[in-house]
Amino acid sequence: MDLLKERILKDGKALDENILKVDSFINHQVDPELMIEIGNAFAEHFKDYKITKVATIESSGIAPALMTAQALKVPMLILKKAPSRILNDNLLHTEVVSFTKQNNYELTLCKDYINENDHVLIIDDFLANGEAATGAIRLIRKAHATVAGIGILIEKSFQPGREKLSEQGFEVFSLARVGKLGKDIIEFIED
Ligand code: 5GP
Repeated sequence: MDLLKERILKDGKALDENILKVDSFINHQVDPELMIEIGNAFAEHFKDYKITKVATIESSGIAPALMTAQALKVPMLILKKAPSRILNDNLLHTEVVSFTKQNNYELTLCKDYINENDHVLIIDDFLANGEAATGAIRLIRKAHATVAGIGILIEKSFQPGREKLSEQGFEVFSLARVGKLGKDIIEFIED
């Protein structure tokens, strides 16, 4: 998606060879117009996949997932990182290794909002090692629902996430694929 790639080159900052900072338009301050275009791009790609719900991991995936859900006219599910078990014991849960924070977190989803008839599109901001997406897949499968595909804003193609998900038979559709990062270097690869 040219609009996203241009924005990454203009406002993104490569902190080192591994981490891309996009706080000014995705992760901290959010550009709503860009999110609408991102939602439309995902909806256009996945329009014939019979998706019943769009799922994302809180919090950075919420804006693009909401716009995708709106464009596909289905509900959005937020997979939660810090639920209160006291308030809700009807939860599915799984453990995920965090890429940026280097520690594990629990991902949860209430059984009330998903069932075996759901065909779910997963949306996330970044794909690195594929742990977050794999955790989301595990949760969706625990509910006996199916995964329609994975939509990623920024894929770091030099890390193993895409390969890991593709090997399991999942389609990964990324709007921007970064082939190389470094100090003041951001290079994309084409599909
Ligand atoms: P994975 O689970 O694929 O290893 O990592 C994906 C998650 O880690 C994303 O949900 C995102 O929050 C975070 N992440 C991974 N790499 C980056 C990065 O380069 N920049 C930012 N801002 N977040 C990242």
